[in-house]
Amino acid sequence: MIIYAAQWVLPISSPPIESGALAVEGERIIAVGARAHLTERFPEAPIRDFARAAILPGLINAHSHLELSLLRNALEADEADFFAWLRRITITRLERMTEEDLKLSALLGAAEAARAGVTCTGDASDVAQASFYALREVGLRGIVYKEVFGPDVRTAREQFAKMQESIAALREFETERVLLGLSPHAPYTVSAPLLEMVATYARENELPMMMHAAESQAETDLMLYGRGPFAEGLARRGIEWRAPGISTIQYLARLGVLGARPLLAHCIRTDDADIATIASFDARIAHCPKSNAKLGHGRAPFTRFLRHGVKVGLGSDSVASNNTCDILEEARFAALVSRYDGTSDGDSSGDDRTGHRVSAAQALHAATLGGARALGLDDRTGSLEAGKEADFTVIALDHLHQLPTHDVQAAIVFSSSANDVRLTVVAGREIFREGRLLTIDEDDLRRRLIEAANRLRS
Ligand SMILES: [Zn+2]
Repeated sequence: MIIYAAQWVLPISSPPIESGALAVEGERIIAVGARAHLTERFPEAPIRDFARAAILPGLINAHSHLELSLLRNALEADEADFFAWLRRITITRLERMTEEDLKLSALLGAAEAARAGVTCTGDASDVAQASFYALREVGLRGIVYKEVFGPDVRTAREQFAKMQESIAALREFETERVLLGLSPHAPYTVSAPLLEMVATYARENELPMMMHAAESQAETDLMLYGRGPFAEGLARRGIEWRAPGISTIQYLARLGVLGARPLLAHCIRTDDADIATIASFDARIAHCPKSNAKLGHGRAPFTRFLRHGVKVGLGSDSVASNNTCDILEEARFAALVSRYDGTSDGDSSGDDRTGHRVSAAQALHAATLGGARALGLDDRTGSLEAGKEADFTVIALDHLHQLPTHDVQAAIVFSSSANDVRLTVVAGREIFREGRLLTIDEDDLRRRLIEAANRLRS
């Protein structure tokens, strides 16, 4: 048993504890409370004292694409056109990146996450083996959602059979902490019959599911009117598309997708009826405010998600559209963009000028327990509670840019970032400590990354 102590312990499921401590035995948390109380209860246990720092549940990245990490700071010029950008990413991934590149890319993403205090990630991945490899090497928890594509109705059965085969093959990579899931990519890349089949399969096989939904104007134009860049792209490929004439969320409800309680990434273009529908199905949301802003998609109605009681986590999305995986920064950004024009998420009805802004505590909740709930893993992680697995992070509170730290939650959300993380622990195992990753050779990773990036650029 070890006792981890610090000036602050933030269990998230209960109020912050000053002079707090966490008792860890093997993989599990045994007790959380006042330091004096825990040292009295476990007098033999060694104490790791972090002094002016905060111990938090490990941060949860509810939406990532680790395998795209090698595309950080690339393809910037294409971003103005979302359709062209997505196409360039797909082409680069399929034609330029070798299997080794994808593994390296995912390893970069996982290493960055561990350094940022992230202990668990919901990773959407085309080449899912790369993601499994990276999470296991670095020692993270996660769900790898194998991506499914297939916009053409005529090939739906064939694509579904292929998916079943790859799911069966991927089962062998699963561990107790790295689980397999399914991700029909988006309504514009997966046909209605394929969506129905995948959702039924996910439900019957109890596989967690995630999907991109209600992200861009191009998607709305496709759903409501059957026009715009996605519609034109499908037409160029000779793929028939009949616009359902309803929002993405209502479309997913109609097809039975929401019945699988999926994690929906983005949900920017959602009105109150859509959010009520999401809540009624107990579907979840990965809120990705930085990626949404960077791609110019707009702002998701985070405060309204919370008001409707939807389970919401924060996601970095890929670092090709972020360009960092820093969930503390994501929390800060989520709070700031909810407030920036003085209305609640752009709701200009006038009754929201006060009272519905996202607080530091709400942002921190989304970055931890909210994310665990969104991924369906809150029985194991997301808060500091006796009986849960020991997933936690220690954040310094003594750097000049954080001082003074009158309100500890404000200090973490508004003054801290990944660079302030001192320790990352997954199920009792330290994977990052005081500037160094403990599970992989960081210098070797850096060297291989630069080589691969140079090759990709040439
Ligand atoms: Zn995404």
